[in-house]
Amino acid sequence: MAIVLNPPKPRYSRDFWEPRYARRAERMKASEIRELLKLVDRPGVISFAGGIPDPRLFPAEEAAKAYAAALSCSAATALQYSVSEGYAPLIHWIAAHMTRLGVPASPENILVTAGSQQGLDFVGKLLLNPNDTAVVAAPTYLGALQAFSAYEPRYDTLCPEQGNRTPQSYQDEAAAGGETKLAYVVPDFANPTGETLPLEARRNLLALAEALAIPVLEDSAYHALRFEGATLPSLQALDVARAGSLDASRVVYLGTFSKTVAPGLRIGWICASRGLIRRLVLIKQASDLNVSVINQMAMTHLVERQYDALVGAAIARYRVKRDAMLGALEAHMPGSVRWTRPEGGLFIWATLPQGMSGEELLQRAIHEAGVAFVPGRAFFHDGGGANTIRLSYSLPEPHEIVEGVRRLSSLFQALPK
Ligand code: PMP
Repeated sequence: MAIVLNPPKPRYSRDFWEPRYARRAERMKASEIRELLKLVDRPGVISFAGGIPDPRLFPAEEAAKAYAAALSCSAATALQYSVSEGYAPLIHWIAAHMTRLGVPASPENILVTAGSQQGLDFVGKLLLNPNDTAVVAAPTYLGALQAFSAYEPRYDTLCPEQGNRTPQSYQDEAAAGGETKLAYVVPDFANPTGETLPLEARRNLLALAEALAIPVLEDSAYHALRFEGATLPSLQALDVARAGSLDASRVVYLGTFSKTVAPGLRIGWICASRGLIRRLVLIKQASDLNVSVINQMAMTHLVERQYDALVGAAIARYRVKRDAMLGALEAHMPGSVRWTRPEGGLFIWATLPQGMSGEELLQRAIHEAGVAFVPGRAFFHDGGGANTIRLSYSLPEPHEIVEGVRRLSSLFQALPK
């Protein structure tokens, strides 16, 4: 056989990689919105876009002590690989924390994850076959849609506040592809709406899950940040009361320290039945072995000494910011714009007059008013929400929030106040 030393180079299409990606990558594309939001770093722009914690709340001094202690007293452990379940003292703290929240948990019910975002990915990986259905709110957390979409599901819409659709209607919708596999919900101060599921809606959701025999994935990212009103029982606490034990519960709870301590340590957890945790540990092993041990040690140090104080400080600060935004909306926005009044968390959700586009408003807001936010459509699995926007008050100072809302409202000048 003749050996061709210099074979002609194949002519690839404009992009070598594009035709080679796996099918699951089709849904993972950078959006135009993200490109536009890169402009928010320009000086003078007031951003309601990010939804990221206020860095003034970070426990920098205590974190420095925690890392120094880990390195001087326990470097051999701190810098080593570790078990996939997590660092035992942190697991114990989390199990006690869950117990305080009404879910009697033992260490075997907990898996430490790299933020709750990793929990979303792991649960999607464990449960979703291509074309299975994930039932989600519309709108819902964009990062959950991104995590699940890698597993090529279909989506259907939850509506527990309206009493749900019939279980049969969900089964019929799913039958065209696969099975209905999970319901996902952010029950407290949701991203993106800031709204909280009332007790009745929580019960409706659990009843639907029971009728469909599917797990509920409860994302509690903002639960600790309640400014006012009575705390509601978590879906997991309600379900444990129904089932008799956590091991018999069908709710999977995702917790995180990102909004209460600091997101940079990348630490969250999954609390669920022991059987499910054992399967998820295998996924953790295959994915990244373990969460950084030194970060888990530092987190243990921080939560053991400061958890309640950190939560208290976050609540006080974000409450002032929420009030600044609500007050400014009331003072400046035209009557045809409506918005939510969250009792906690980091977000207000505004609905613009019918026919107005959140995406077009963002273009104008950035270029004409120096204000950024996230158009609501990104949070809808079904392409809805064209006339909605998400406003986060977490990062700007109160006076910037007032100025930002004033500038934003100037874009509505044609509308009656
Ligand atoms: N769930 C929700 C509802 C969120 O808003 C976020 C982040 N903003 C996450 C999960 C992921 O957060 P983390 O991975 O930092 O815990």
